[in-house]
Amino acid sequence: MFRSRELFSRTGMSVDQEKQAASEVEAFERVSDLEKKYSKESLQAAIDAREAFFDSVDFKILREIFADIYKKCGFDVETMNFIESNRIAVIDMEYGGGEYHGESNFIAIKNANIDVTQLDDLDFYDKKKKKFKQELVEDTYGSLELAMLHRLVHEEAHAISRNICVDIDSDKSNSSYSQSGLHRKARPNTKNWGEDTPTFQGKPIAQREDRVGSIFHQLNEGIVEVFASSVMDEYLKRIPKKNEAEDTYKKNKLERSRSFPYPDAQKMVNLIISTLSKKKGVSKEVVFHALIRGLIEGETFESDEVQDMFREAFDDDFLRDLSTAAWLGSIKRLLAKYAI
Ligand SMILES: [Zn+2]
Repeated sequence: MFRSRELFSRTGMSVDQEKQAASEVEAFERVSDLEKKYSKESLQAAIDAREAFFDSVDFKILREIFADIYKKCGFDVETMNFIESNRIAVIDMEYGGGEYHGESNFIAIKNANIDVTQLDDLDFYDKKKKKFKQELVEDTYGSLELAMLHRLVHEEAHAISRNICVDIDSDKSNSSYSQSGLHRKARPNTKNWGEDTPTFQGKPIAQREDRVGSIFHQLNEGIVEVFASSVMDEYLKRIPKKNEAEDTYKKNKLERSRSFPYPDAQKMVNLIISTLSKKKGVSKEVVFHALIRGLIEGETFESDEVQDMFREAFDDDFLRDLSTAAWLGSIKRLLAKYAI
């Protein structure tokens, strides 16, 4: 059966369901450990912040929206790796996003509501800077609650993508090789590689597969963000309107798109969608679902299917340029070169 998240041993053997389940139990412990580690005021305050945030989110509706898209893309919802609230940590750090952790299958969100002026390990200017950043976030998203929700939805989109972890280390914090959605990475600093290189799909894992920060990482983030943004729009349609913050959020997404995560990668993804839609004579929605299917199936940018799709829409040079464009700044140059 297709599983959206799968663990493999160092020799590339699939880890059985029982061990996989055990690693998930540990995830609960890691969630509470993280909250303890980062709680600035008291653990109870951190727990209260998490509860307040969770109370504001309708997880049932959120799950339904992801499930609808999952079904539309032709997948069995039973295999969808949606992260429920008991596997989500809200940590007391000034707002700076979140993380989906494939090795232990949990999400950590930074608490946007923290009172940054109370952080005692910062000097006056650091506090001022952070306060300014927090106000900017609030202004952009309409409210800190919506900023956290937006980030949560982004991390959920990573979680329901295809996630593969090979050779997880003993404290479950790292793996030698991992793939999330369309992006894969090997960790060059993994200890003990020497003679005994981990293998996956019959091949030794190259120490330098695809770096975090590479264009494929950025493009994967771009697709995840476009996906998350559409889930957010649908979510706000389905819940009863709470306050004016929702209007500010919707308006700013259109008018201040550069203030939202991965703006250049999102622009690139939207332009890829419109170009493919025109050249193939299909709706943008069809192309969008094809990209989401790629995330869930774990097509990599190196696969023939993805390469053919790009070749058809652009030309051979485009994909070569894309794969050699190493860093985010290169996206801007690519956009200019292909006038897209
Ligand atoms: Zn992300």
